[in-house]
Amino acid sequence: MSHIIIVGAGFAACTAVKTLRKKGFNGKISLVAPRAELFYYPSLIWVPAGKRQYEDLVIPLHGFLQKNNVHYIQSSVTGIDTATKSLQLENDHLDYDAVIIACGGRYLRKLPGIENAKIACSGWEDTKAFSDQLNSLNEGTIAFGFASNPNEPSAMRGGPVFEFLFGVDTLLRQQGRRDKFELVFFSPAPRPGQRMGDKAVERLLGDMKKRNIKTYLGKKMKRFNVDSVETEGDQFNADLILFIPGMTGPAWAVDSGLTLSEGGFFKANEYCQVEGEQHVFVAGDAGSFPGPEWKPKQAHMADLQAEAAAKNAVDVLKFKKPKHSFKTELICIVDTLTTGSLVYRDQKRGFMMKMPPLHWAKIWFEKLYLRAYR
Ligand SMILES: Cc1cc2nc3c(=O)[nH]c(=O)nc-3n(C[C@H](O)[C@H](O)[C@H](O)COP(=O)(O)OP(=O)(O)OC[C@H]3O[C@@H](n4cnc5c(N)ncnc54)[C@H](O)[C@@H]3O)c2cc1C
Repeated sequence: MSHIIIVGAGFAACTAVKTLRKKGFNGKISLVAPRAELFYYPSLIWVPAGKRQYEDLVIPLHGFLQKNNVHYIQSSVTGIDTATKSLQLENDHLDYDAVIIACGGRYLRKLPGIENAKIACSGWEDTKAFSDQLNSLNEGTIAFGFASNPNEPSAMRGGPVFEFLFGVDTLLRQQGRRDKFELVFFSPAPRPGQRMGDKAVERLLGDMKKRNIKTYLGKKMKRFNVDSVETEGDQFNADLILFIPGMTGPAWAVDSGLTLSEGGFFKANEYCQVEGEQHVFVAGDAGSFPGPEWKPKQAHMADLQAEAAAKNAVDVLKFKKPKHSFKTELICIVDTLTTGSLVYRDQKRGFMMKMPPLHWAKIWFEKLYLRAYR
């Protein structure tokens, strides 16, 4: 019986499980992850307003795994030996016929003083700490920013920072205390959010102006202090800092012997095969994929890549050539707590549309998406 191992339990991993079974793969599937839980990152943006708690974002997967006849192994992958087709786990090893790496990426934490910023995207703890501190402040300056990986500029996560920023602005207005706070947005990019397209950048910067949010753009970051942010040219006060650094690949990639991109991700071809490997696939934030320079690192892309990877893994095990590639598209709703803007981009077109019902559409999508796993 063929054995496919999936590394991770996030968006890409769950979609790989669903696709393998839908495609009729009836061999053994093992899933290795530290926890059998899907963490729904997109709804972290509603934590500061108290609209999501930990239990809303963490979806236990035992039922889903059982239903799909998946053998769950609670561990972390630490290495791979492609010659013997064996994955190294923390205290064990596991032989595979094909493997789908879906273990996400990491955030670069090299900037001096990074401990003074809340890395909201890294999960529950930092976002909750940011929210608690926001609620305990009576006045002050709150700074929001993001950066990319200089070795791989597409390895960044900017969208959620806009959502946190506009969400906090809306929240403070609803609480009647916006006048007690200065909100600041900073980015080393002169046109932050550029990969969403020119119009989107204009709209986002225009919205900041309307909401009286001060911007510091186009200057390289130097350091974070307890009460300020320093760039090459500016220094401004910050009582609370929310920052999303550039991304890199998983720690175990470094010594894995697999081909890596300049930014430290598993380098994939259009069929999600790690370059030079027939039986090793990658999907989601862990990989670096061919495509336009604006290609996003998003759950939506993780799903599309996982579908292609799973279909190709099945084909390769049947001695067929992989033929399934994935479409590159950027799609997201930039939420503000009361309204939302739909941003779309593919190879042919791009647009941004703002209207209040899109806030509700984002909530509706969350419910619909998670129904498959609850
Ligand atoms: C605040 C925020 C808002 C976002 N909003 C959106 C949005 O609106 N739309 C959108 O499309 N995307 C959004 N994203 C991006 C999206 O969440 C990511 O792109 C997505 O989580 C990537 O999925 P993944 O499966 O590749 O990795 P992850 O979701 O990070 O999952 C990785 C999994 O691998 C496991 N793992 C890690 N290391 C190992 C190891 N060594 N061995 C085994 N398992 C391991 C982890 O425990 C986890 O289960 C948002 C992200 C954030 C942070």
